[in-house]
Amino acid sequence: MNSTAQEGESVALPTNAVPALRIRNLRKTYKGGVEALKGIDLEVDQGEFFGLLGPNGAGKSTTIGIITSLVNKSEGSIEVFGIDTERDLESAKRLIGVVPQEINFNQFEQPLRIVAQQAGYYGIPWAEAQERAGQCLEWMGLWDKRKVLSRALSGGMKRRLMIARALVHGPRLLILDEPTAGVDIEIRRATWELLEQINRQGTTIILTTHYLEEAESLCKRLAIIDGGCIVQNSDTRSLLRQLAIETFVLDPQDALDAAPKLDGFPTAMREDGSIEVEIKQGASLNQLFDSLKQEGIVITSMRNKANRLEELFVRLVEGGQESKL
Ligand code: ADP
Repeated sequence: MNSTAQEGESVALPTNAVPALRIRNLRKTYKGGVEALKGIDLEVDQGEFFGLLGPNGAGKSTTIGIITSLVNKSEGSIEVFGIDTERDLESAKRLIGVVPQEINFNQFEQPLRIVAQQAGYYGIPWAEAQERAGQCLEWMGLWDKRKVLSRALSGGMKRRLMIARALVHGPRLLILDEPTAGVDIEIRRATWELLEQINRQGTTIILTTHYLEEAESLCKRLAIIDGGCIVQNSDTRSLLRQLAIETFVLDPQDALDAAPKLDGFPTAMREDGSIEVEIKQGASLNQLFDSLKQEGIVITSMRNKANRLEELFVRLVEGGQESKL
């Protein structure tokens, strides 16, 4: 792409199958010297549902900020569907829809106006902008609410309004920064369903999340970022397969003074009196229960300590245990 798209023009894409996003050697040092990104490389294919995970301060928002041109990079390159953001930022921006973490629309305006205005920023004529806005609101289940004051919408509806606004210009890549942060489980699941639908219809999705369950449920591929570096980048399944150990929590019938010593199963006592046991992949649970029986310990219930991705995360990310997941 050498020519820059004018307002209202659609962007001609390179015909060969280029990745939706290609990041090379991306570095960011903020004024004051914080090195937020230390040269990351990342590729997301067209049609993918991709997750960017990491503890607080890892560099996720900086990465998203640079892709969406809110933050200036110090070094490196970004291509969106083959379009270099440095050479043709306007065309690249046209292909991206962004859902920021914080609700940032004017709460005193009506949803229809908020979404249509966004289309206007992309040079879409007002009549078409209204029509598109209506379609997006309908898709997000907000048609009935198109003329209420946005302030009156529920938390879940406000999130959906943010998504409708991000979709109105027909982006091929949707980027969401912590899309379900702080929302209750019902809204979270409803949002997941919507995002899956959007992805099924061909839009590439990249999200950042603290919720490992979210990443595990939605994302086919994940990159884990820590301290400004990508520490893992793989498909979700093979990441999970790397886990050699799972930790279970057992509740003993009678209170124990100390964690029991079980052959081949490292244990630890928890504050609430339950016991943590590490079990190697493929190890026999019967053997564990035999050892417990030998010690005269009866177990009344057992559960997985965390979801598997969380275990992996804690192992990969230095200080992960302290991070607010
Ligand atoms: P995340 O989104 O993963 O929590 P960020 O990208 O927000 O991480 O932050 C990465 C690092 O950059 C952190 O050390 C953070 O304090 C620092 N940082 C982020 N924004 C700024 C800024 N505007 N000025 C200086 N430092 C910043």
